[in-house]
Amino acid sequence: MSPIAINATYIVAAALFIFGLKYMSSPATAVRGNRLSAIGMFIAVVVTLFSQEIVQFQWIAVGVVLGSIIGAFAAQKVAMTSMPEMVALFNGSGGLSSLLLGWAALYGGDPSTFIVVTILLSILIGGVTFSGSIMAWGKLSEVMTSAAIVFGAQRIVNAAILIALVVCSVLFAMDPSLTSPYLVAVIVLSLVFGVMAVLPIGGADMPVVISLLNSYSGLAACAAGFAIHNNILIVAGSLVGAAGIILTNIMCKAMNRSLANVLFSGFGAAKTATKVEGEVKPIVSEDAYLILESASSVTFVPGYGMAVAQAQHVVRELGELLEANGAEVTYAIHPVAGRMPGHMNVLLAEANVPYDQLVEMEDINPRMSNVDVAVVIGANDVVNPAAREDENSPIYGMPIINVDEARTVFVLKRSMSSGFSGVDNPLFFGENTRMLFGDAKQSISALVAEFKG
Ligand code: NDP
Repeated sequence: MSPIAINATYIVAAALFIFGLKYMSSPATAVRGNRLSAIGMFIAVVVTLFSQEIVQFQWIAVGVVLGSIIGAFAAQKVAMTSMPEMVALFNGSGGLSSLLLGWAALYGGDPSTFIVVTILLSILIGGVTFSGSIMAWGKLSEVMTSAAIVFGAQRIVNAAILIALVVCSVLFAMDPSLTSPYLVAVIVLSLVFGVMAVLPIGGADMPVVISLLNSYSGLAACAAGFAIHNNILIVAGSLVGAAGIILTNIMCKAMNRSLANVLFSGFGAAKTATKVEGEVKPIVSEDAYLILESASSVTFVPGYGMAVAQAQHVVRELGELLEANGAEVTYAIHPVAGRMPGHMNVLLAEANVPYDQLVEMEDINPRMSNVDVAVVIGANDVVNPAAREDENSPIYGMPIINVDEARTVFVLKRSMSSGFSGVDNPLFFGENTRMLFGDAKQSISALVAEFKG
């Protein structure tokens, strides 16, 4: 295939990526968006295989077979609740590929200064993305402590690594060769910097970090695209870079924090929330049913526990029974509920909950005082009033769904234990709160059984 034909086909693939992203902005069209993007990627990969620059196909075939096996296995086996860890590993793989691609581009002979800079960027950003993502995976999967690790001279050490990285990069650019010791130094220092950058960030902030690393993996791919003169890699990398940074921004806003605060504050390491004390009022499903049966508006607030219990299908069933009983039913979605962006939307879509019943935090909060019953299903941090009221709380300032303003609140969880951030929740002791202890799926099933008589 001629380079012109290849590039013309790349334009089609790029258009499919862009339309794919557009469709992903609404749950109703997200599946179509995913398919369009996948078709775009398929076209891009096939056309790239026609490039004259491919020296041999054996290793590509090995890569395709291995990658397909790993991908198919992961899609089947990885639980929905472990998706963020998987995304972290995928970002890490993207970073590592860019590092290797940048490195390999050096074999192409005598590169221009511009190409050397792009090679350096793909190695540097790829390296930081790879080791940072492995750390993020470690923290989320609790292979290591998920707490923020901070020590005295941390910022000075990080600044020193960064300066060394820049100096070694400049020295390498002045005399770029495969045998340059500065190349090794840049690779090692970027890997170390990725580890050091993620160390002081607590597990609760990992979703933001993963989204940022996703953006980095795109930037690294974009730089690698310049290094090997591949236009579709430049386009796809830029799209991932931009999409990642937009999502990062949305998540920071959802937690009312700046990106700098997420990255450098050692969240949760220093503050100690005010101890919560009081009397908890448990309720049994028979009594909860009587209250729900007479409610005219019910809002479900799902969280991570709904994913653990896999309660989404019975929740939809209960929602339908409540509607049939004359109640207005809504599902309030917090942007960081669960363990990945859009986690609750995905689960509720899987259970065929109508999209028009999903309400975003900023839309439900002004209406919360008119809600008869707010049913909190395995959510904790995202409904914690300490985020609004306790200045000493590590989550102070994070916007929450104000379920405590509803007339009655049911909290469905198994125990009094805290959520992801490890912070106590005064909601459980509220005057209008009743705790329905037990696995969320069992509790909701019991309510469904009561409704069905
Ligand atoms: P939380 O982690 O705050 O709370 C989940 C609650 O679910 C726990 O308190 C637990 O209590 C309960 N639970 C667990 N299993 C069950 C079960 N089988 N049945 C009933 N309840 C159960 O979840 P939220 O969704 O409220 O908050 C999300 C947190 O995760 C935030 O801190 C956010 O920053 C963080 N995070 C978010 C990500 C994202 O992108 N959405 C990614 C990574 C982290 P008990 O053990 O007593 O049952």
